[in-house]
Amino acid sequence: MYHYVRDMHETDYPGIKGLLIKKFLGQLDYIIANYKVISLAEYVDFLHGKTEIPDNSAILTFDDGLKDHYNTVFPILKERGLTATFFPITQAQTDQVVPGVLKAQFLLAKIGSNPFAKEFNYLLEKDFPKLFNQYKVTDKEKMEMKYRWDDPLTANLKFSIGTLPGEARTKILNKIFPKYFDNEKNFINDLCMNWDEMREMQEAGMSFGGHTHTHPRLAELDEEAQKQELVHCTDILTKNLNKRPTLFSYPYGDFNNITLKLLKELGYDGAISTNVAVNQGRVDPFNITRMDTNDIPFENSAK
Ligand SMILES: [Zn+2]
Repeated sequence: MYHYVRDMHETDYPGIKGLLIKKFLGQLDYIIANYKVISLAEYVDFLHGKTEIPDNSAILTFDDGLKDHYNTVFPILKERGLTATFFPITQAQTDQVVPGVLKAQFLLAKIGSNPFAKEFNYLLEKDFPKLFNQYKVTDKEKMEMKYRWDDPLTANLKFSIGTLPGEARTKILNKIFPKYFDNEKNFINDLCMNWDEMREMQEAGMSFGGHTHTHPRLAELDEEAQKQELVHCTDILTKNLNKRPTLFSYPYGDFNNITLKLLKELGYDGAISTNVAVNQGRVDPFNITRMDTNDIPFENSAK
């Protein structure tokens, strides 16, 4: 499971949590030496009993539709003859809006978790007093252990932003973000891949899957709101990539039975979560687990 692949220290946002290009290259060496890279679609076919795959297969996935994936990852994969699946957040290019999850990452990188949590708590108490007690951010123990690489304050800030009802999240982030980032449209075009880039990647053998329209925690939404997210992102991907998506990545790894029902109705064949485990045998095609890049060696020591 990859997100940012960049040399953070050479960008305007050295605080972004990403993977250095050199480490990415080393990790690919390790993966190529020890595994056979197949596509996620091939793996899902295997899970449905339609095909066989080599032992020690590995799959590369990239979430959130970041420009890093076009600028950096795509040329490297092409050169090595590897394929991968990418999961863009459709709101970014269609509405020219920076999705809340990415706004939060850049605010964290630019101003740090302490000032960000203070502004967040202030606006929450002022504008949404009824939500304050449940969602206020503290540096007490982590509310969600999935944020393995963050300190408690940062983990809790990400968790509160992720779980806050959508309207409150959007309003609060839309108040804080413009104070520190002046042109959202330019920002989105620097940060996220556009449709031309994604089509070029698709023609070169890369695949794309659904990751919702606005990147909510799906299990927090009722059926109607989940349906809207899934239908919208499916329609946008189908229209812009001339191909109906059949693979899905759950934002934050979060889903419930309603999500599963809707994905199947929409013709999806499989989905990946953020639960950390190796998949052994024919696992549930809608609950494929993933290793974080930090769980895998960054060089091939056998060399
Ligand atoms: Zn995501």
